[in-house]
Amino acid sequence: MLTDTTYEGNVKIVRKIGNSTAFYNPLGEFSRDVFVKIFTAYALTKGENLIYAEPFSGTGIKGIRLSVEGKGFSTFIFNDLDENSLKIMQKNWEINNVKGKAIFYNLEANDFFQRLVNFGRVDGIDVDPFGSSSPYIFNAIRSVKGGGIISFTFTDTQVLGGIHSEALEKRYHIKAKKVQFLKELQARIAITNVVLDASTINIAAVPIFAHVDKHYIRSYHIIKPKASLANELVKEIKYITTSDCGFISLEKYAFCPYCGEPTDAIGPIYAGKIFDKDIINKAYEISGGCKRCSELFATALEELDDIPFYYDTKFMASVLKTSTPSRSSLIYDLKKSGFRASGTVFSPTGIKTDSPFGVFKSMFFK
Ligand SMILES: [Zn+2]
Repeated sequence: MLTDTTYEGNVKIVRKIGNSTAFYNPLGEFSRDVFVKIFTAYALTKGENLIYAEPFSGTGIKGIRLSVEGKGFSTFIFNDLDENSLKIMQKNWEINNVKGKAIFYNLEANDFFQRLVNFGRVDGIDVDPFGSSSPYIFNAIRSVKGGGIISFTFTDTQVLGGIHSEALEKRYHIKAKKVQFLKELQARIAITNVVLDASTINIAAVPIFAHVDKHYIRSYHIIKPKASLANELVKEIKYITTSDCGFISLEKYAFCPYCGEPTDAIGPIYAGKIFDKDIINKAYEISGGCKRCSELFATALEELDDIPFYYDTKFMASVLKTSTPSRSSLIYDLKKSGFRASGTVFSPTGIKTDSPFGVFKSMFFK
């Protein structure tokens, strides 16, 4: 007897059979929408008969949605250490209008990755564990083919937010604190972790997209087994100088040039580009049925992702003891003054610009 059924995207998912249950998180729906779009956009650049794998399948919802709603992937390798989940994902594969073939494993995640290496590696992997992807990054990357795609979920948002700074240093070897560009900082800490783990075996895990919600951080990478490219990514790992007055810079300052107070050095974090605009543009084009996805990708297409931080207009307004201007008018004013400016996927009140901090502040009093 099947019970506890839910609908998401174009699929039907059973979460319980008899006494067996599998983990399903309704809060992850949007991140799964985005996942299907990005993996399909990637596949559109790569062709057909791609192989997809996931080490933490749960109900199997991600792979099943990719099979039903996506394109290009034709073999789906599911895995979960939990036998109840295995039973349920197999049932979910049967009851949906799936395309392609499925293979099921019941292994510990790192054993699963080794199995994929023996299998000849795969074109796409999604790593979506409870908590941090950190313990799995190295082995997951080894099991992806050159040119393949890999995505990670990090749900330890408190650690990545620098709120538990000791845990942050222990897990990610990074010094941080709560800054105005907190959401992007979280994404870039996760990306740094992936880039560094890959670089130890001369692989470049090139970031192609990232987004952050209250409960998770998601990062997407293309795997390129090329030492020189791995070196280039590592060279982009830097410190960001911040001051409580709102000043942010990639230059080193012991004291803030605006308020004179001692600064904080946040990092080391990956400060290079994080968006592949070609793939994001393709994802945008196929996002017709998901308004939130279209909006996210449209913002990413405009975003100045070569600038690794944003100013939060609300925070800046409170520091400057003035009202918060609208983001669009601020962007307009900055561009009119000859500077680059954009919004950011990481915050609806965030602004990126290359204008000097003094000029940026003056825009609040226009
Ligand atoms: Zn300052």
